[in-house]
Amino acid sequence: MAAAAGFLFLVLLTIQVNRVTAVTPIKNLSIARSTTQTVTSATTESSSQTSTEYSEDAQEQAAVSDEVNEDDFPTVSLNDWSLALVGPKNKIVSEIAQEDLGKLSNGYLVDKRIVSAYEELAEAAKVAGHPLVMVSAYRSVEYQQEIFDANVNSLIRQGNTKEEAIRITKLTFTEPGYSEHHTGLAIDVIDEDWYQNHTGELLNEGFGVTDGGKWLQAHAREYGFIIRYPKGKHDITQIDYEPWHLRYVGVEVATYIEEHEVTFEEFLDEAKEHITRKEAELSYHELADPLQEDWIFTNSLTRNQENSQRAQEELLMSGGDLFAKNVFSQTKEVKK
Ligand SMILES: [Zn+2]
Repeated sequence: MAAAAGFLFLVLLTIQVNRVTAVTPIKNLSIARSTTQTVTSATTESSSQTSTEYSEDAQEQAAVSDEVNEDDFPTVSLNDWSLALVGPKNKIVSEIAQEDLGKLSNGYLVDKRIVSAYEELAEAAKVAGHPLVMVSAYRSVEYQQEIFDANVNSLIRQGNTKEEAIRITKLTFTEPGYSEHHTGLAIDVIDEDWYQNHTGELLNEGFGVTDGGKWLQAHAREYGFIIRYPKGKHDITQIDYEPWHLRYVGVEVATYIEEHEVTFEEFLDEAKEHITRKEAELSYHELADPLQEDWIFTNSLTRNQENSQRAQEELLMSGGDLFAKNVFSQTKEVKK
């Protein structure tokens, strides 16, 4: 029985270590930002295939980096309503029902679950001296289709072919079904000062360097909103910098995204990895015999301490961290 449980545990460890070492470049970027250690995926890859002292160190460092990142990563489900992904490459799956829309005090419609978050943001902006002016909020697919078609028709009247008119329209209008505004979780806002004094188009990236734009960049997260399309991230978001386009994701996720300077897309990728890893840990805890578990933890800790000469408390972190350590120490044993 004990031997069978031990074997099962090692199988699970092997599965788990493969997951842990399969660190993507995106993840490493955020790890590098959040810690002083910079373990590249190349290092991690090579260390999983050799057994030198150096590579074992690199493996332990990789595990520690992961743990640091794990600490402040929000607990989310990819099915959370506030994490819906709609954009140029992600057509909306199902539109928000009319009864789920709520009216803001300025008359605009948004998902009713974010009405109070926006009102609080607007109030704080006002207190800080940057009263907000809303330019756009929820837009139905039907409305997007209307304004898209109107532009196409106007271009056709100006002598363009239909194909040409559609091509030009796509440069400035989001295709119906592909706008984040369909979700009711996105808004376009500027401040009163920009609205009154700026000449030219209202939604211009110059707003980002104004006091109001800077205030939003620094404080929107406190109310659950992110600046959805940051500067220099077009490759990932497919959309240029838009300091006015705010997206609700909830306070915890917004804080993580802004502090780690990742895009929403990158956050979702990281979330998928975290969830996969957590599921692997959970299935291990469900299957393993608790007594066997204790035996393995104790043995592994002793070995870890002997090998690395690190203080016991350094190795005694949370359960998840401990598990990550076990994964590496046990796997080394298997390979030898
Ligand atoms: Zn927008």
